[in-house]
Amino acid sequence: TRWADEVASPTGPVAPKESESSLEAAQMDGQVEPLNGSGLQDGQYEVEVKLSDIQGDENSPLFSVNSFEQLGINEQILKGLYAMNFRKPSKIQEKALPILLRDPPQNMIAQSQSGTGKTAAFVITILSRIDYSNPRQPQALVIAPSRELARQIEGVIRSIGQFVEGLTIQAAVPGAVERGAKVQAMVVVGTPGTVMDLIKRRQFDASQMKVLCLDEADNMLDQQGLGDQCARVKGMLPGVQQTLLFSATFPDAVVRYAEQFSPNANQIKLKRDELTVKGISQMYMDCTGDEGKYNFLSQLYGAMTVGSSIIFVKRRTTADEIANRLTNDGHRVVAVHGAFDGTERDRILEEFRVGKIKVLITTNVLARGIDVQSVNMVINYDVPMMGRNDDQPDAETYLHRIGRTGRFGRVGVSISFVFDRKSFQALSKIGEYYGIDLVRLPTDDWDETE
Ligand code: ADP
Repeated sequence: TRWADEVASPTGPVAPKESESSLEAAQMDGQVEPLNGSGLQDGQYEVEVKLSDIQGDENSPLFSVNSFEQLGINEQILKGLYAMNFRKPSKIQEKALPILLRDPPQNMIAQSQSGTGKTAAFVITILSRIDYSNPRQPQALVIAPSRELARQIEGVIRSIGQFVEGLTIQAAVPGAVERGAKVQAMVVVGTPGTVMDLIKRRQFDASQMKVLCLDEADNMLDQQGLGDQCARVKGMLPGVQQTLLFSATFPDAVVRYAEQFSPNANQIKLKRDELTVKGISQMYMDCTGDEGKYNFLSQLYGAMTVGSSIIFVKRRTTADEIANRLTNDGHRVVAVHGAFDGTERDRILEEFRVGKIKVLITTNVLARGIDVQSVNMVINYDVPMMGRNDDQPDAETYLHRIGRTGRFGRVGVSISFVFDRKSFQALSKIGEYYGIDLVRLPTDDWDETE
């Protein structure tokens, strides 16, 4: 029997996110991750995207009326944007930048769908605020929930800032700053635990910090341990003039705390039904038992290697297990999660970015922020759950996971695996929460679909 036939669609909203275990504090520095740990036809994968097309639709989150010049951005930064082939701002960039660049500086809480260019919005702001006559003095700090995301943001700052004379940037992630060495760059990007330690050990003088930005802010403020670390970091930055909070999701439960953290902030918000990205086809597969999940995944493999794809599981052990089985079955896949050492994680992600690795199996540690444009399929091998007993659907994590595809107007597919009543109900609730109908993939005639 298929669960989709048997279980009536549940009603009622997804329960509010409750605070999660303290384990998750460690995750942020990438040491541990939480215990929670079709467009399928040939030829649809390599999609050429013309930015002028995707930015021309008024209803799209990528649409804007202005040019970057009209937003009053400094020449050297503009040059960087054009070198990256950014021709026009996206909606969030167009809406946020005029406020972000105002003097005196103002706080901001900004929400925009995954893959719509939030990073550039805060990076342009930061580059516009630096005093370039003071190269060894940290002046702006970005914190993010994983080392990979911090590294990626560092890369975006380097790219957008490539023509900015005198710019210095440094990463503060585990292992990046040796004991006793000083953090002496204008812009510092890191994970909260490492940043906190460096400031405490006086390796990092944060007394002149002007801008503080939290990427994936809801995640950073929400979780026990992590929220405390962020608050403590903020407490160590006496001179901050501008606190910026960015995310695709701001569940009600964290909004009040976010408003305390970033007082009198200007706010750009989305309604819940605006959150999903149109280019991502959301589907699910009703699998027969746990073994059915593996079998289907294995069958799907060919489709996954046409572009790049990410398979999300709950536990590290599952990631390792599936990776081993698929490898033994002759497939090329790589697992990565918090048990790997930092440089190994960096290397694997880099190989994934450049397409040397096509299929990545991972946990929630990479659910947020990672921007690899070639990803055209995301698989939720395990439906994301949260709560003390892992008994509530985690709608935010679902949205972030599937948001690893469909970047900046590209198309992508997400397939979530259900195999029992619990996973089916959880996924149904997530669909309802966002007001979307997930498309069920046919089971028996999969060979034909393929
Ligand atoms: P978000 O943080 O909103 O999830 P990112 O900042 O990672 O999204 O941006 C998604 C992708 O879109 C990135 O690859 C980025 O280089 C690209 N991008 C951002 N802004 C623009 C723009 N104005 N024009 C073209 N591409 C852009």
